[in-house]
Amino acid sequence: MINENKTNNIADTNNINNNENNSKNNDINKKKRYGDKTLEVHAGHEDLGHTGSRAVPIYQTTAYVFDDVDDAKDRFSLDKDDNIYIRLNNPTTSVFEDRVAAIEGGVGGLAQSSGASAIVLSILNISKLGDNIVSADNLYGGTINFFTYTLPKLGRSVKYVKCDDIEGYKNSIDDKTKAIFVESIGNPRLDVPDFETIAEIAHENDIPLIVDNTAGIGLFKPIEHGADIVVYSATKYIGGHGNSLGGVIVDSGNFDWTNGKFSEFNTPDPSYHGIIFTEKFGDHAFVVKARTQLLRDLGTTISPFNSFQLIQGLETLSLRMKQHSDNALKVAEFLKKNPNVAWVSYPGLEDDSNHEIASKYLKDFGGLVAFGIKGGLVEGKKFIKNVELLSHVANIGDSRTLVTHPASTTHSQLSKEELDEVGVTPDFIRLSIGLENIEDIINDIDQALKKAVQ
Ligand SMILES: *Cc1c(COP(=O)(O)O)cnc(C)c1O
Repeated sequence: MINENKTNNIADTNNINNNENNSKNNDINKKKRYGDKTLEVHAGHEDLGHTGSRAVPIYQTTAYVFDDVDDAKDRFSLDKDDNIYIRLNNPTTSVFEDRVAAIEGGVGGLAQSSGASAIVLSILNISKLGDNIVSADNLYGGTINFFTYTLPKLGRSVKYVKCDDIEGYKNSIDDKTKAIFVESIGNPRLDVPDFETIAEIAHENDIPLIVDNTAGIGLFKPIEHGADIVVYSATKYIGGHGNSLGGVIVDSGNFDWTNGKFSEFNTPDPSYHGIIFTEKFGDHAFVVKARTQLLRDLGTTISPFNSFQLIQGLETLSLRMKQHSDNALKVAEFLKKNPNVAWVSYPGLEDDSNHEIASKYLKDFGGLVAFGIKGGLVEGKKFIKNVELLSHVANIGDSRTLVTHPASTTHSQLSKEELDEVGVTPDFIRLSIGLENIEDIINDIDQALKKAVQ
Protein backbone atom coordinates (compact mmCIF):
# COMPACT_ATOMS: atom_id res chain seq x y z
CA MET A 1 0.00 0.00 0.00
CA ILE A 2 3.04 2.22 -0.32
CA ASN A 3 2.06 3.22 -3.78
CA GLU A 4 -1.36 2.98 -5.28
CA ASN A 5 -0.10 1.97 -8.68
CA LYS A 6 2.33 -0.61 -7.48
CA THR A 7 2.06 -3.74 -9.59
CA ASN A 8 2.98 -6.63 -7.47
CA ASN A 9 4.18 -9.82 -9.09
CA ILE A 10 3.92 -12.04 -6.09
CA ALA A 11 0.70 -11.19 -4.37
CA ASP A 12 -0.73 -7.73 -4.23
CA THR A 13 -3.14 -8.01 -1.40
CA ASN A 14 -3.70 -4.59 -0.03
CA ASN A 15 -4.82 -2.24 -2.72
CA ILE A 16 -8.04 -1.16 -1.12
CA ASN A 17 -9.10 1.22 -3.75
CA ASN A 18 -10.78 0.11 -6.88
CA ASN A 19 -12.82 -2.82 -7.94
CA GLU A 20 -10.99 -3.40 -11.19
CA ASN A 21 -7.80 -3.89 -9.29
CA ASN A 22 -9.53 -6.08 -6.76
CA SER A 23 -10.39 -8.77 -9.24
CA LYS A 24 -6.90 -8.56 -10.70
CA ASN A 25 -5.34 -8.97 -7.25
CA ASN A 26 -7.53 -11.93 -6.64
CA ASP A 27 -6.35 -13.58 -9.82
CA ILE A 28 -2.75 -13.06 -8.83
CA ASN A 29 -3.49 -14.66 -5.50
CA LYS A 30 -5.35 -17.57 -6.96
CA LYS A 31 -2.66 -18.51 -9.44
CA LYS A 32 0.10 -17.59 -7.01
CA ARG A 33 3.36 -18.32 -8.75
CA TYR A 34 5.50 -18.76 -5.69
CA GLY A 35 5.56 -21.24 -2.87
CA ASP A 36 5.15 -20.51 0.81
CA LYS A 37 8.85 -20.17 1.65
CA THR A 38 9.26 -17.66 -1.17
CA LEU A 39 6.23 -15.66 -0.06
CA GLU A 40 7.52 -15.67 3.52
CA VAL A 41 10.67 -13.77 2.48
CA HIS A 42 9.36 -11.67 -0.44
CA ALA A 43 5.62 -10.98 -0.38
CA GLY A 44 4.65 -7.37 0.15
CA HIS A 45 8.16 -6.07 -0.52
CA GLU A 46 8.79 -6.50 -4.24
CA ASP A 47 8.67 -2.76 -4.78
CA LEU A 48 11.76 -1.58 -2.93
CA GLY A 49 10.77 2.10 -3.13
CA HIS A 50 13.16 4.97 -3.68
CA THR A 51 15.86 3.71 -1.29
CA GLY A 52 16.37 0.29 -2.85
CA SER A 53 16.57 -1.11 0.64
CA ARG A 54 16.60 -4.91 0.28
CA ALA A 55 15.33 -5.62 3.78
CA VAL A 56 12.01 -4.07 4.80
CA PRO A 57 12.81 -0.67 6.37
CA ILE A 58 11.17 0.57 9.55
CA TYR A 59 9.17 3.66 8.57
CA GLN A 60 9.11 5.26 11.99
CA THR A 61 6.87 8.15 11.03
CA THR A 62 3.48 9.31 12.21
CA ALA A 63 2.43 11.23 9.10
CA TYR A 64 2.87 11.30 5.31
CA VAL A 65 3.23 14.35 3.08
CA PHE A 66 0.31 14.99 0.73
CA ASP A 67 1.09 16.01 -2.85
CA ASP A 68 -1.45 18.85 -2.70
CA VAL A 69 -4.86 19.59 -1.19
CA ASP A 70 -6.72 17.52 -3.78
CA ASP A 71 -4.49 14.57 -3.04
CA ALA A 72 -5.20 14.97 0.68
CA LYS A 73 -8.94 15.16 0.04
CA ASP A 74 -8.84 12.01 -2.11
CA ARG A 75 -6.98 10.09 0.56
CA PHE A 76 -9.36 11.17 3.33
CA SER A 77 -12.43 10.25 1.28
CA LEU A 78 -10.90 6.83 0.45
CA ASP A 79 -10.94 7.68 -3.26
CA LYS A 80 -7.20 7.14 -3.22
CA ASP A 81 -5.48 4.35 -1.37
CA ASP A 82 -2.49 5.98 0.21
CA ASN A 83 -1.06 6.72 3.63
CA ILE A 84 -2.64 9.42 5.79
CA TYR A 85 -1.65 9.01 9.41
CA ILE A 86 0.00 6.22 11.39
CA ARG A 87 -3.14 5.16 13.24
CA LEU A 88 -4.56 3.99 9.88
CA ASN A 89 -1.52 2.98 7.87
CA ASN A 90 2.24 2.63 7.79
CA PRO A 91 4.46 1.25 5.00
CA THR A 92 6.31 -1.22 7.26
CA THR A 93 3.02 -2.47 8.66
CA SER A 94 1.61 -2.72 5.11
CA VAL A 95 4.37 -5.15 4.16
CA PHE A 96 3.53 -7.23 7.21
CA GLU A 97 -0.19 -7.21 6.32
CA ASP A 98 0.43 -8.07 2.67
CA ARG A 99 2.83 -10.84 3.59
CA VAL A 100 0.51 -12.64 5.99
CA ALA A 101 -2.40 -12.25 3.55
CA ALA A 102 -0.28 -13.67 0.71
CA ILE A 103 0.88 -16.65 2.78
CA GLU A 104 -2.68 -17.42 3.87
CA GLY A 105 -4.28 -16.79 0.47
CA GLY A 106 -6.44 -13.80 1.45
CA VAL A 107 -7.17 -10.57 -0.42
CA GLY A 108 -6.02 -8.28 2.38
CA GLY A 109 -4.72 -8.05 5.89
CA LEU A 110 -5.16 -5.69 8.81
CA ALA A 111 -2.44 -5.64 11.45
CA GLN A 112 -3.35 -5.02 15.07
CA SER A 113 -1.57 -4.12 18.28
CA SER A 114 -2.38 -7.59 19.64
CA GLY A 115 -4.12 -10.84 18.86
CA ALA A 116 -6.80 -9.79 21.32
CA SER A 117 -7.65 -6.66 19.32
CA ALA A 118 -7.67 -8.69 16.08
CA ILE A 119 -10.43 -10.81 17.61
CA VAL A 120 -12.32 -7.79 18.98
CA LEU A 121 -12.33 -6.03 15.61
CA SER A 122 -13.28 -9.15 13.67
CA ILE A 123 -16.43 -9.48 15.77
CA LEU A 124 -17.35 -5.78 15.99
CA ASN A 125 -16.93 -5.38 12.23
CA ILE A 126 -19.79 -7.75 11.42
CA SER A 127 -22.18 -7.40 14.36
CA LYS A 128 -24.45 -4.81 15.90
CA LEU A 129 -26.35 -4.43 19.18
CA GLY A 130 -28.42 -7.53 19.92
CA ASP A 131 -26.44 -9.86 17.66
CA ASN A 132 -24.64 -13.01 18.76
CA ILE A 133 -21.91 -15.36 17.63
CA VAL A 134 -21.69 -19.13 17.95
CA SER A 135 -18.28 -20.27 19.13
CA ALA A 136 -16.42 -23.46 19.93
CA ASP A 137 -15.76 -23.50 23.68
CA ASN A 138 -12.13 -24.67 23.64
CA LEU A 139 -10.59 -21.25 23.25
CA TYR A 140 -7.61 -19.27 24.49
CA GLY A 141 -8.50 -18.08 28.03
CA GLY A 142 -8.33 -14.41 27.02
CA THR A 143 -10.81 -14.98 24.20
CA ILE A 144 -13.20 -16.74 26.58
CA ASN A 145 -13.01 -13.70 28.88
CA PHE A 146 -13.76 -11.35 26.00
CA PHE A 147 -16.67 -13.41 24.66
CA THR A 148 -18.18 -14.21 28.06
CA TYR A 149 -17.78 -10.94 29.95
CA THR A 150 -16.87 -7.98 27.72
CA LEU A 151 -18.83 -8.80 24.58
CA PRO A 152 -22.19 -8.68 26.47
CA LYS A 153 -21.24 -5.22 27.77
CA LEU A 154 -20.92 -4.25 24.11
CA GLY A 155 -24.43 -5.55 23.47
CA ARG A 156 -23.46 -8.82 21.75
CA SER A 157 -23.50 -12.33 23.14
CA VAL A 158 -21.88 -15.69 22.60
CA LYS A 159 -23.32 -19.21 22.45
CA TYR A 160 -20.73 -21.88 23.14
CA VAL A 161 -20.70 -25.26 21.47
CA LYS A 162 -18.35 -28.20 22.01
CA CYS A 163 -15.71 -28.06 19.30
CA ASP A 164 -16.80 -31.34 17.66
CA ASP A 165 -20.57 -30.96 18.22
CA ILE A 166 -21.69 -30.43 14.64
CA GLU A 167 -25.39 -30.51 15.50
CA GLY A 168 -24.67 -28.02 18.28
CA TYR A 169 -23.41 -25.41 15.80
CA LYS A 170 -26.49 -25.94 13.62
CA ASN A 171 -28.93 -25.72 16.50
CA SER A 172 -27.36 -22.66 18.09
CA ILE A 173 -27.61 -20.40 15.07
CA ASP A 174 -30.56 -18.01 15.08
CA ASP A 175 -31.47 -14.99 12.97
CA LYS A 176 -29.25 -12.73 15.08
CA THR A 177 -26.16 -14.96 14.73
CA LYS A 178 -23.46 -13.23 12.71
CA ALA A 179 -20.56 -15.70 12.72
CA ILE A 180 -19.17 -19.04 13.82
CA PHE A 181 -15.83 -18.80 15.60
CA VAL A 182 -13.30 -21.63 16.11
CA GLU A 183 -9.58 -22.02 16.90
CA SER A 184 -7.50 -24.10 14.52
CA ILE A 185 -5.67 -26.03 17.24
CA GLY A 186 -7.88 -25.39 20.23
CA ASN A 187 -6.37 -23.96 23.32
CA PRO A 188 -5.64 -25.75 25.61
CA ARG A 189 -6.48 -29.36 24.68
CA LEU A 190 -5.27 -29.18 21.05
CA ASP A 191 -8.56 -30.14 19.44
CA VAL A 192 -8.80 -29.66 15.70
CA PRO A 193 -12.29 -28.77 14.42
CA ASP A 194 -13.80 -30.19 11.25
CA PHE A 195 -13.39 -26.92 9.37
CA GLU A 196 -15.08 -27.88 6.12
CA THR A 197 -18.22 -29.18 7.80
CA ILE A 198 -18.44 -26.16 10.09
CA ALA A 199 -17.84 -23.79 7.15
CA GLU A 200 -20.70 -25.45 5.32
CA ILE A 201 -23.02 -24.87 8.27
CA ALA A 202 -21.96 -21.23 8.43
CA HIS A 203 -22.49 -20.71 4.71
CA GLU A 204 -25.87 -22.47 4.68
CA ASN A 205 -26.89 -19.85 7.22
CA ASP A 206 -25.32 -16.94 5.28
CA ILE A 207 -22.79 -16.18 8.00
CA PRO A 208 -18.97 -16.24 7.90
CA LEU A 209 -16.66 -18.72 9.60
CA ILE A 210 -13.95 -16.94 11.60
CA VAL A 211 -10.90 -19.04 12.47
CA ASP A 212 -8.25 -18.11 15.04
CA ASN A 213 -5.19 -19.63 13.32
CA THR A 214 -2.64 -18.52 15.91
CA ALA A 215 -1.38 -22.03 16.58
CA GLY A 216 -1.92 -23.30 13.04
CA ILE A 217 -0.09 -20.77 10.89
CA GLY A 218 2.50 -22.49 8.72
CA LEU A 219 0.69 -25.81 9.24
CA PHE A 220 -2.77 -25.10 7.93
CA LYS A 221 -4.49 -22.58 5.63
CA PRO A 222 -8.03 -21.99 6.89
CA ILE A 223 -9.17 -20.12 3.77
CA GLU A 224 -8.55 -23.22 1.62
CA HIS A 225 -11.01 -25.06 3.85
CA GLY A 226 -13.83 -22.54 3.92
CA ALA A 227 -12.83 -19.91 6.49
CA ASP A 228 -13.95 -16.41 5.51
CA ILE A 229 -12.01 -14.40 8.08
CA VAL A 230 -8.83 -15.53 9.83
CA VAL A 231 -7.40 -13.91 12.95
CA TYR A 232 -4.02 -14.41 14.58
CA SER A 233 -2.04 -13.50 17.60
CA ALA A 234 1.21 -12.65 15.80
CA THR A 235 2.83 -12.59 19.24
CA LYS A 236 3.19 -16.37 19.03
CA TYR A 237 4.42 -18.31 15.96
CA ILE A 238 4.36 -15.43 13.46
CA GLY A 239 6.88 -13.44 15.49
CA GLY A 240 8.33 -16.68 16.76
CA HIS A 241 10.96 -15.24 19.08
CA GLY A 242 8.89 -14.21 22.07
CA ASN A 243 9.68 -10.52 21.83
CA SER A 244 6.81 -8.58 20.20
CA LEU A 245 3.06 -8.20 20.71
CA GLY A 246 0.91 -8.03 17.59
CA GLY A 247 -2.08 -9.41 15.76
CA VAL A 248 -3.51 -9.60 12.29
CA ILE A 249 -6.82 -10.19 10.53
CA VAL A 250 -6.88 -11.73 7.05
CA ASP A 251 -9.89 -11.35 4.77
CA SER A 252 -10.47 -14.22 2.33
CA GLY A 253 -12.47 -11.92 0.06
CA ASN A 254 -14.90 -14.83 -0.45
CA PHE A 255 -17.84 -13.88 1.75
CA ASP A 256 -20.87 -12.19 0.21
CA TRP A 257 -21.64 -9.28 2.56
CA THR A 258 -24.58 -8.27 0.35
CA ASN A 259 -26.63 -11.34 1.30
CA GLY A 260 -29.05 -9.31 3.43
CA LYS A 261 -27.62 -10.08 6.87
CA PHE A 262 -24.93 -7.40 7.10
CA SER A 263 -26.67 -4.10 6.52
CA GLU A 264 -23.74 -1.96 7.66
CA PHE A 265 -21.75 -3.15 4.66
CA ASN A 266 -24.47 -2.02 2.28
CA THR A 267 -25.75 1.24 3.71
CA PRO A 268 -24.08 4.64 3.33
CA ASP A 269 -21.43 5.41 5.96
CA PRO A 270 -22.02 9.03 7.07
CA SER A 271 -18.48 9.24 8.46
CA TYR A 272 -17.19 8.84 4.87
CA HIS A 273 -19.67 11.03 2.97
CA GLY A 274 -22.05 8.14 2.45
CA ILE A 275 -19.80 5.58 0.82
CA ILE A 276 -21.13 2.01 0.67
CA PHE A 277 -18.36 -0.44 1.47
CA THR A 278 -19.49 -3.36 -0.69
CA GLU A 279 -20.06 -1.07 -3.67
CA LYS A 280 -16.79 0.80 -3.39
CA PHE A 281 -14.44 -1.96 -2.26
CA GLY A 282 -15.97 -5.18 -3.61
CA ASP A 283 -14.31 -8.25 -2.18
CA HIS A 284 -12.08 -6.11 0.09
CA ALA A 285 -15.11 -4.65 1.91
CA PHE A 286 -14.50 -6.44 5.22
CA VAL A 287 -10.88 -5.47 5.66
CA VAL A 288 -11.33 -1.89 4.43
CA LYS A 289 -14.30 -1.37 6.74
CA ALA A 290 -12.39 -2.77 9.71
CA ARG A 291 -9.50 -0.40 9.02
CA THR A 292 -11.36 2.74 8.16
CA GLN A 293 -14.13 2.56 10.78
CA LEU A 294 -12.77 0.50 13.67
CA LEU A 295 -9.02 0.98 13.57
CA ARG A 296 -9.67 4.67 12.94
CA ASP A 297 -11.92 4.97 16.00
CA LEU A 298 -10.48 2.41 18.43
CA GLY A 299 -6.80 3.05 17.69
CA THR A 300 -5.65 -0.56 18.17
CA THR A 301 -2.66 0.11 15.93
CA ILE A 302 0.60 -1.83 15.92
CA SER A 303 3.89 0.08 16.04
CA PRO A 304 6.08 -0.05 12.92
CA PHE A 305 8.91 -1.51 15.00
CA ASN A 306 6.73 -4.45 16.05
CA SER A 307 5.62 -4.96 12.44
CA PHE A 308 9.31 -5.12 11.50
CA GLN A 309 9.99 -7.73 14.16
CA LEU A 310 7.02 -9.80 13.05
CA ILE A 311 8.22 -9.62 9.43
CA GLN A 312 11.56 -11.08 10.57
CA GLY A 313 9.60 -13.91 12.13
CA LEU A 314 7.59 -14.59 8.98
CA GLU A 315 10.78 -15.03 6.95
CA THR A 316 11.55 -18.32 8.75
CA LEU A 317 7.98 -19.41 9.48
CA SER A 318 8.01 -22.67 7.49
CA LEU A 319 11.47 -23.63 8.71
CA ARG A 320 10.56 -23.01 12.32
CA MET A 321 7.18 -24.73 12.19
CA LYS A 322 8.84 -27.85 10.79
CA GLN A 323 11.40 -27.88 13.59
CA HIS A 324 8.77 -27.11 16.27
CA SER A 325 6.66 -29.98 14.90
CA ASP A 326 9.55 -32.48 14.65
CA ASN A 327 10.65 -31.71 18.19
CA ALA A 328 7.11 -31.80 19.58
CA LEU A 329 6.40 -35.22 18.06
CA LYS A 330 9.53 -36.62 19.71
CA VAL A 331 8.57 -35.09 23.06
CA ALA A 332 5.05 -36.52 22.76
CA GLU A 333 6.44 -39.98 21.96
CA PHE A 334 8.80 -39.73 24.93
CA LEU A 335 5.98 -38.69 27.29
CA LYS A 336 3.72 -41.44 26.01
CA LYS A 337 6.22 -44.07 27.20
CA ASN A 338 7.06 -42.35 30.48
CA PRO A 339 5.80 -44.01 33.67
CA ASN A 340 5.41 -40.61 35.40
CA VAL A 341 2.88 -39.41 32.83
CA ALA A 342 -0.86 -40.15 33.01
CA TRP A 343 -1.91 -39.06 29.56
CA VAL A 344 -0.61 -37.16 26.49
CA SER A 345 -2.43 -35.07 23.88
CA TYR A 346 -0.62 -34.38 20.63
CA PRO A 347 -2.47 -34.46 17.31
CA GLY A 348 0.61 -36.03 15.68
CA LEU A 349 0.38 -39.22 17.78
CA GLU A 350 -1.34 -41.92 15.77
CA ASP A 351 -3.61 -42.98 18.61
CA ASP A 352 -4.55 -39.40 19.57
CA SER A 353 -8.28 -38.65 19.40
CA ASN A 354 -7.52 -35.70 17.10
CA HIS A 355 -5.11 -37.54 14.81
CA GLU A 356 -7.51 -38.41 12.02
CA ILE A 357 -9.04 -34.96 11.65
CA ALA A 358 -5.68 -33.22 12.19
CA SER A 359 -4.13 -35.38 9.43
CA LYS A 360 -6.86 -34.23 7.06
CA TYR A 361 -6.10 -30.54 7.60
CA LEU A 362 -2.57 -30.03 8.96
CA LYS A 363 0.73 -30.34 7.11
CA ASP A 364 2.62 -30.92 10.37
CA PHE A 365 1.17 -31.10 13.85
CA GLY A 366 2.73 -28.04 15.46
CA GLY A 367 4.69 -27.28 18.60
CA LEU A 368 2.07 -27.67 21.34
CA VAL A 369 1.96 -30.77 23.51
CA ALA A 370 -0.35 -31.32 26.49
CA PHE A 371 0.06 -33.95 29.16
CA GLY A 372 -1.11 -34.94 32.61
CA ILE A 373 1.47 -35.63 35.26
CA LYS A 374 0.89 -38.69 37.49
CA GLY A 375 -0.58 -37.49 40.75
CA GLY A 376 -2.04 -34.05 40.18
CA LEU A 377 -1.71 -30.52 41.44
CA VAL A 378 1.24 -31.09 43.81
CA GLU A 379 3.28 -33.04 41.25
CA GLY A 380 2.41 -30.52 38.56
CA LYS A 381 3.72 -27.65 40.63
CA LYS A 382 6.86 -29.63 41.51
CA PHE A 383 7.48 -30.37 37.84
CA ILE A 384 7.32 -26.69 36.98
CA LYS A 385 9.64 -25.86 39.88
CA ASN A 386 12.26 -28.37 38.73
CA VAL A 387 12.60 -27.62 35.02
CA GLU A 388 15.92 -25.96 34.18
CA LEU A 389 16.00 -25.41 30.42
CA LEU A 390 12.24 -24.96 30.05
CA SER A 391 10.76 -21.58 30.93
CA HIS A 392 7.62 -21.25 33.01
CA VAL A 393 5.75 -18.48 31.19
CA ALA A 394 2.21 -17.68 30.01
CA ASN A 395 3.00 -17.80 26.32
CA ILE A 396 3.38 -20.11 23.33
CA GLY A 397 5.25 -20.00 20.04
CA ASP A 398 8.65 -18.90 21.31
CA SER A 399 11.93 -20.22 19.88
CA ARG A 400 12.53 -21.50 23.44
CA THR A 401 10.61 -24.36 25.01
CA LEU A 402 7.92 -23.08 27.37
CA VAL A 403 5.88 -24.76 30.01
CA THR A 404 2.55 -23.61 31.42
CA HIS A 405 0.22 -24.83 34.08
CA PRO A 406 -3.07 -23.52 32.60
CA ALA A 407 -5.17 -23.93 35.76
CA SER A 408 -2.93 -21.44 37.58
CA THR A 409 -2.11 -19.04 34.67
CA THR A 410 -3.88 -18.71 31.30
CA HIS A 411 -7.16 -20.08 32.65
CA SER A 412 -6.90 -18.75 36.21
CA GLN A 413 -9.69 -16.18 35.66
CA LEU A 414 -12.18 -18.94 34.95
CA SER A 415 -14.43 -20.43 37.61
CA LYS A 416 -14.15 -24.08 38.69
CA GLU A 417 -17.17 -24.94 36.52
CA GLU A 418 -15.71 -23.17 33.53
CA LEU A 419 -12.38 -24.98 34.03
CA ASP A 420 -14.17 -28.35 34.03
CA GLU A 421 -16.14 -27.24 31.00
CA VAL A 422 -12.96 -26.58 28.96
CA GLY A 423 -11.09 -29.60 30.31
CA VAL A 424 -8.35 -27.91 32.33
CA THR A 425 -7.55 -30.46 35.05
CA PRO A 426 -5.08 -29.78 37.91
CA ASP A 427 -2.54 -32.30 36.51
CA PHE A 428 -2.60 -30.65 33.11
CA ILE A 429 0.72 -29.31 31.80
CA ARG A 430 1.10 -27.60 28.45
CA LEU A 431 4.36 -27.47 26.56
CA SER A 432 5.22 -25.14 23.70
CA ILE A 433 8.18 -26.97 22.24
CA GLY A 434 10.99 -24.73 21.00
CA LEU A 435 13.82 -25.04 18.52
CA GLU A 436 16.53 -26.36 20.87
CA ASN A 437 18.28 -29.70 20.44
CA ILE A 438 15.70 -32.39 21.07
CA GLU A 439 17.96 -34.33 23.49
CA ASP A 440 18.27 -31.28 25.72
CA ILE A 441 14.50 -30.70 25.80
CA ILE A 442 13.75 -34.35 26.60
CA ASN A 443 16.51 -34.62 29.22
CA ASP A 444 15.15 -31.60 31.05
CA ILE A 445 11.58 -32.89 31.02
CA ASP A 446 12.82 -36.32 32.14
CA GLN A 447 14.78 -35.07 35.15
CA ALA A 448 11.96 -32.74 36.25
CA LEU A 449 9.41 -35.59 35.98
CA LYS A 450 11.62 -37.83 38.12
CA LYS A 451 11.95 -35.16 40.80
CA ALA A 452 8.22 -34.40 40.74
CA VAL A 453 6.87 -37.96 40.85
CA GLN A 454 9.01 -39.85 43.31
C1 LIG B 1 -2.24 -15.43 22.64
C2 LIG B 1 -3.47 -15.76 21.91
C3 LIG B 1 -4.44 -14.78 21.64
C4 LIG B 1 -4.28 -13.34 22.13
O1 LIG B 1 -3.21 -12.75 21.48
P1 LIG B 1 -2.32 -11.55 22.11
O2 LIG B 1 -1.35 -11.28 21.03
O3 LIG B 1 -1.73 -12.06 23.37
O4 LIG B 1 -3.27 -10.42 22.37
C5 LIG B 1 -5.56 -15.14 20.92
N1 LIG B 1 -5.74 -16.41 20.50
C6 LIG B 1 -4.84 -17.39 20.75
C7 LIG B 1 -5.10 -18.76 20.25
C8 LIG B 1 -3.68 -17.10 21.46
O5 LIG B 1 -2.80 -18.07 21.70
